[in-house]
Amino acid sequence: MQQEVIDQLRQQEVAPQKLFINGQWVSGTGSCHKVVSPIDGSVITSLPRASRADMQAAVGAARDAFNDGRWANLAPAARKQVLHKLADLIQEHALELAVLGVRDNGTEINMAIKAEPGSAASTFRYYAEAVDKVYGEIAPTDPAILGLVHKQPVGVVGAITPWNMPLMIGAWKIAPALAAGNSVVVKPAEEASLTTLRLAELAQQAGLPDGVLNVVTGKGSEVGEELAMSMDVDVLVFTGSGDTGRRLLEYSARSNMKRVYLELGGKSANIVFADAPDLDQAALGAAMAIFRNSGQICVSGSRLLVEQSIHDEFVSKVTEHAQALRIGDPLLLTSQVGAINNLNQLNGNLEFVSKAQAQGATLVTGGERILQATGGYYMQPTVMTGVQPDHHLAQAEVFGPVLAVMSFKDEAEAIAIANNSDYGLAGGIWTSNLGRAHRLIKAVKTGGLFVNTYGGADGTIPLGGVKQSGNGVDKTLHALDKYVDLKTAWIKL
Ligand code: ADP
Repeated sequence: MQQEVIDQLRQQEVAPQKLFINGQWVSGTGSCHKVVSPIDGSVITSLPRASRADMQAAVGAARDAFNDGRWANLAPAARKQVLHKLADLIQEHALELAVLGVRDNGTEINMAIKAEPGSAASTFRYYAEAVDKVYGEIAPTDPAILGLVHKQPVGVVGAITPWNMPLMIGAWKIAPALAAGNSVVVKPAEEASLTTLRLAELAQQAGLPDGVLNVVTGKGSEVGEELAMSMDVDVLVFTGSGDTGRRLLEYSARSNMKRVYLELGGKSANIVFADAPDLDQAALGAAMAIFRNSGQICVSGSRLLVEQSIHDEFVSKVTEHAQALRIGDPLLLTSQVGAINNLNQLNGNLEFVSKAQAQGATLVTGGERILQATGGYYMQPTVMTGVQPDHHLAQAEVFGPVLAVMSFKDEAEAIAIANNSDYGLAGGIWTSNLGRAHRLIKAVKTGGLFVNTYGGADGTIPLGGVKQSGNGVDKTLHALDKYVDLKTAWIKL
């Protein structure tokens, strides 16, 4: 039944896209390009490649909307209602949004339904509730002074988002920014902009005033840079690659020193001890930690560290899972793994495999492009053993279905290998030794760790990295801090 609806939705024509600036759909003054589906290489629609002037117009609209208080000065209960209405609309259109997103970026539909409209709706709902529940403070100062600490919106927030999970990650940034009373300009990735544009349409329908949310599509090196260099953007939030994150920090330094919050890549270590409670479960968990969404998830468990005594047995279990996965058309509910987002990414993944082989790693399974006749971009789940901690494959993020397996002899070595990384986003620990689990939670330098499980994006737990995986967190009330200034007032009594 659901498959039939999905099949109807996949046929729907998608009108040529426009930019959403100041509540209007405009063509912009840039060019246009074709949106190609990774499912089969077909053209879905056309997307504006906005000009720098278009981005300036969007930032100007956001600034005007902020300055006249049409959103920031609304009663909290009214803002809350709009955000709840938006969550309702996302839920109402969940399947449509999920299918549109999958056509655009190739994520398997089973995952997309939950992770994209599902997470986006619950994120808007979470922050809708926060609007009238987060207070400022009265400081415990000298009794002769009343010290007030207000939480004020920062003004204009720029959000640059990636092609994996654009609706979920977009909501993680847009929802708290709006809840705090800011205006927002979003620059989604060109490889997956369609659902963000649709979200803007739903936001308008929900009653969000014009100019408060603007979406400008186009090239990162042009409109992304323009947004990040703007003197009129107060806070910039980003999810994407480390290289771009580094540039954004530079742009900030060269412009108005706007605060920049980065959620970057990872090379997360998934550490399996011989005393794991259930090695079969651990093997399935380890396989899905990297192969879900073809490894195109920032928290993927891309380094598998296995205790020496169970290495061979465990690798064969993971390999069995890798070989059994049904890869293919991501809009079929029966597919377990969908497509690689774009051809460049796919070719890059394949290059990682050959480079690893050249450095002495063994290809146990996978390593090839498959289903080429479909016209889409698919890759076999790939397992490589004999990877050394300093190898390219152990250090660089692939963002594809390529698992680098290493072995360790004891806890100390596991920790040392796990921490031998510029990244520090996520990781996993599989053990039934409670003391060991807690020791590793302390010792492994990452933003988060999964214990005897892997993955999950519940809105009640913050997500963020340390080291070169970024700063600041998405989700929860902690994320609100990024979107407010603390404004103090000393009142002599
Ligand atoms: P990925 O490798 O996952 O595509 P990127 O960091 O290149 O990661 O892209 C994430 C987002 O950053 C996209 O929206 C992209 O357009 C944008 N982007 C890329 N380069 C720049 C740049 N120089 N300035 C601002 N944004 C950029």
